[in-house]
Amino acid sequence: MKVFKFGGASAKDPEGLKNITEIIKTYGASDSLVVVISAIGKTTNALEDVVHAKIQDKNKAFELLLKIRQSHENYIQNLFLELPELLMEDINEHFVEVEWIIEEDREMSYDYMYDQIVSIGELISSRILYHWLLSIDIKAAWIDAREIIRTDDTWREGRIQWNVTNQQIQDALIPLLNEGKMIVTQGFIGSTMENNTVTLGREGSDYTAAILSSALAVKSMTIWKDVPGVLTGDPKTFENVTKLDRLSYTEAIEMTYYGAKVIHPKTIQPLENAQIPLYVKSFIHPTQSGTYISGDPDPEYPPIVVLEPNQALVHFSSKDLSFIAEYHLAKLFSLFDRFRIRVNMMRNTAISFTICTQHDEFKLNQLFEELHDEFRIVVDPELELYTIRHYNEYMLPELFKGKLILLEEKIRNTVQRVVKTTAPIVHKNKTT
Ligand code: ADP
Ligand code: ASP
Ligand code: MG
Repeated sequence: MKVFKFGGASAKDPEGLKNITEIIKTYGASDSLVVVISAIGKTTNALEDVVHAKIQDKNKAFELLLKIRQSHENYIQNLFLELPELLMEDINEHFVEVEWIIEEDREMSYDYMYDQIVSIGELISSRILYHWLLSIDIKAAWIDAREIIRTDDTWREGRIQWNVTNQQIQDALIPLLNEGKMIVTQGFIGSTMENNTVTLGREGSDYTAAILSSALAVKSMTIWKDVPGVLTGDPKTFENVTKLDRLSYTEAIEMTYYGAKVIHPKTIQPLENAQIPLYVKSFIHPTQSGTYISGDPDPEYPPIVVLEPNQALVHFSSKDLSFIAEYHLAKLFSLFDRFRIRVNMMRNTAISFTICTQHDEFKLNQLFEELHDEFRIVVDPELELYTIRHYNEYMLPELFKGKLILLEEKIRNTVQRVVKTTAPIVHKNKTT
């Protein structure tokens, strides 16, 4: 048994979907196969815009939704010679459900509404792939991930209820796989005890694939990307990056924790627990070897650079100049947890405490509301956080040319720097 995951980039147009089918036929046909797909291209971003518009201007929300509907209809028309009626009906139903939500005047939490709307991207893409497979005579079954992935009701970041989820996956999928059917399902979505749709966090389809892999104890999982594998840095930002042929689970967890966008950070843990190897391969050059991630001992690594843009340093100091003591920190951290503010780096002095975090004004303003009476708060915006694993001293001056270093930490083989770009932005930096 194997799990394949295809992201938005691989299915961005009908040619992409046909390429996915070729990969499935060439590399998946000899085993039982579960295919996880995310929304087509940038559909999730477009659906986020609908959610946002609903708050301010319903008409705008309808207009944006219509655009998404039209682009999916064009996609389907370009793909199929004869439009599958059932597919068109199902897709219509998903769009009508969103129209109802936009129309709805009842108070509902933003995050709950977000999940109900944004989740249709995956429902639609998976239905298209399923009908395409049927049209070329591949035996397949479409599974609604909300029937198998059970979470709590943390909207936009549902936390997996492992026992129920594992059981539901096995009960629903194994009989179909035994009938020789390939499974097509959605990444990124699940449902709560009350059958409300929930999402697992942006880019969460990799994570869904790992949940399915571990529940089914598969032989391997492969995520098909637009890059040759895991590289020493994001090729969209850095020049001279090279492919890492092998990675340990631990190294992969570290890289993704610090923000390497190629794999969702929650993906590795379920795979490591079940000792399932993960391949990261190119859907453009599927014959190439990609990156192999496993429990094998670490090889020698070259320097690996991770860049997190849009960071801020937030400085808290007590208004009465009292020392920053444990009870202050306990209060700050319980609020970080409540507002889901992730601390990427931190430092304390006698009367102040500083964190580096994503500059999300909405979340930070909620936090500041709670703290204004007690703390003086200063924000340094427009910063970047660099993390370099396996660094060497002589690479640093070139990498940080024209950058002002505001905070630095070196622990063993990792250096982290929060920087402000002072020189004009050069789009490509060298990593070595
Ligand atoms: P998906 O299509 O599955 O959603 P993503 O776009 O989320 O795929 O992830 C692939 C992208 O990750 C690449 O196009 C690349 O720009 C980016 N990326 C960031 N860091 C790395 C890295 N270290 N190695 C490879 N790709 C990286
Ligand atoms: N479609 C979702 C997103 O863009 C999930 C994913 O692609 O992994 O975040
Ligand atoms: Mg993605």
